[in-house]
Amino acid sequence: MTDTTILAAGRHVPENLPSRIQHYIDGAFVDSIDGDTFDVLEPVSNEVYVQAAAGKKADIDLAVAAAKRAFDEGPWPRMLPRERSRILHRIADLVEARDAQLAEMESFDSGLPITQALGQARRAAENFRFFADLIVAQADDTFKVPGRQINYVNRKPIGVAGLITPWNTPFMLESWKLGPALATGNTVVLKPAEFTPLSASLWAGIFEEAGLPQGVFNLVNGLGEDAGDALVKHPDVPLISFTGESRTGQIIFGNAAPFLKGLSMELGGKSPAIVFDDADLDAAIDATIFGVFSLNGERCTAGSRILVQRDVYDEFVERYAAQAKRVKVGYPHEKDTEVGALVHPEHYAKVMSYVEIGKSEARLVAGGGQPEGFEFGNFVAPTVFADVSPDARIFQEEIFGPVVAITPFDTEEEALALANNTRYGLAAYVWTNDLKRAHNFAQSIEAGMVWLNSNNVRDLRTPFGGVKASGLGHEGGYRSIDFYTDQQAVHITLGEVHNPTFGKN
Ligand code: NAD
Repeated sequence: MTDTTILAAGRHVPENLPSRIQHYIDGAFVDSIDGDTFDVLEPVSNEVYVQAAAGKKADIDLAVAAAKRAFDEGPWPRMLPRERSRILHRIADLVEARDAQLAEMESFDSGLPITQALGQARRAAENFRFFADLIVAQADDTFKVPGRQINYVNRKPIGVAGLITPWNTPFMLESWKLGPALATGNTVVLKPAEFTPLSASLWAGIFEEAGLPQGVFNLVNGLGEDAGDALVKHPDVPLISFTGESRTGQIIFGNAAPFLKGLSMELGGKSPAIVFDDADLDAAIDATIFGVFSLNGERCTAGSRILVQRDVYDEFVERYAAQAKRVKVGYPHEKDTEVGALVHPEHYAKVMSYVEIGKSEARLVAGGGQPEGFEFGNFVAPTVFADVSPDARIFQEEIFGPVVAITPFDTEEEALALANNTRYGLAAYVWTNDLKRAHNFAQSIEAGMVWLNSNNVRDLRTPFGGVKASGLGHEGGYRSIDFYTDQQAVHITLGEVHNPTFGKN
């Protein structure tokens, strides 16, 4: 069989693909003002399957004006939390009811395995449900100084929130920002990633059906340096919530500085998984395989550096490599696929360049190229490097694909130094059955989130965010509510006015 016939046999194109992808501004689907579009590729064949509107400053200006009008004059910020909550629950219901269709579109557009895309669609519904509940349970601080004063917090939505999102699990990551921004009464302009605009275009229909007022949600597609940049620099957008690469985060910081905007930054990672010799090795191997190969390794919290104590190192590497070779690479739409196709040929080229760098830096024990039978598109075999030195580029730099670096250590001190030896600080995973060590070690790691004897399973009430080059600020639960609201303090005198008199004599 030739590559082309394999491709033709295995490719799956969803029904009802749109004929073009437009912006959604003030309740209507529209093209770019200048008519410009960009190509959208699907990652199995890398063929262009649709054109998306390429937004520029003029389109962002329209979207921000609509969102500002909806904020200044519309009902959304003024509605009771219970009323907004009902609409958010309806959004969650609609996402749940359409989970299969959403997953099919997402998987086709991004290359994510269909079962994992389905999980992400359900998580998106859960995000809306969570903030729908949180907003009605919200209580604010009141402080009393008996007989003298009462102080209370008047929490207010801020205005037009600019939401800029990446291409990995796009629909779910959009929900993560849309849920709290809308729950708190803000209006929004979403700029989704240009590699994966398909699922974002489905929000508009869902929001309309759920009864979200016109102008509250606006969507502008386009390149980061055009549409994203214009959103960051728009004077009527006081908040930017950004998820993406650390380098882009730095640029956005600089561009937002003259406006003194509120910024939430969820950035890159190179998270360690530390396996001590007393760990449950079966569980640790399963979790660390899943931790770096699920979502095609295109996961900010991927445990992409595995540090293993010397006594169990050889056994770990041997078993890990054997299991990695059994991970099923396949067409994204097939139910038994565990690793699909990387999102885009540019990203594929970046990941493959790291695979080549790794071959010159460390010992390749699994993968190292395209998997057999999938020598086309953006497929990459789960790739494992052992004996990786801490100054290797594959130890230090975020690859964002199905590639893992394994490094041995002898002592706890050495493990901690290795774990922290990176510019990033997003997540960490610790495997040990020693209770004291587990807590002391976890608390010493420079990471925003640590999982002990656990995979990446997160309660939505907990803070999410990184330290160092992995981000600034935390979202998740009430922290998201804090980001999307102003907490105005109101102070009232009850007793005598406390009034030192100046200028009496
Ligand atoms: P990216 O930084 O290239 O792009 C993210 C978004 O920013 C896109 O919508 C893009 O168009 C936009 N953008 C690019 N340049 C811009 C500019 N100058 N001004 C405004 N917007 C701009 O990131 P990506 O490649 O799409 O996503 C992968 C990265 O995201 C990885 O580094 C990953 O670790 C990170 N990520 C982090 C988290 C987290 O929560 N910490 C979650 C998911 C992904």
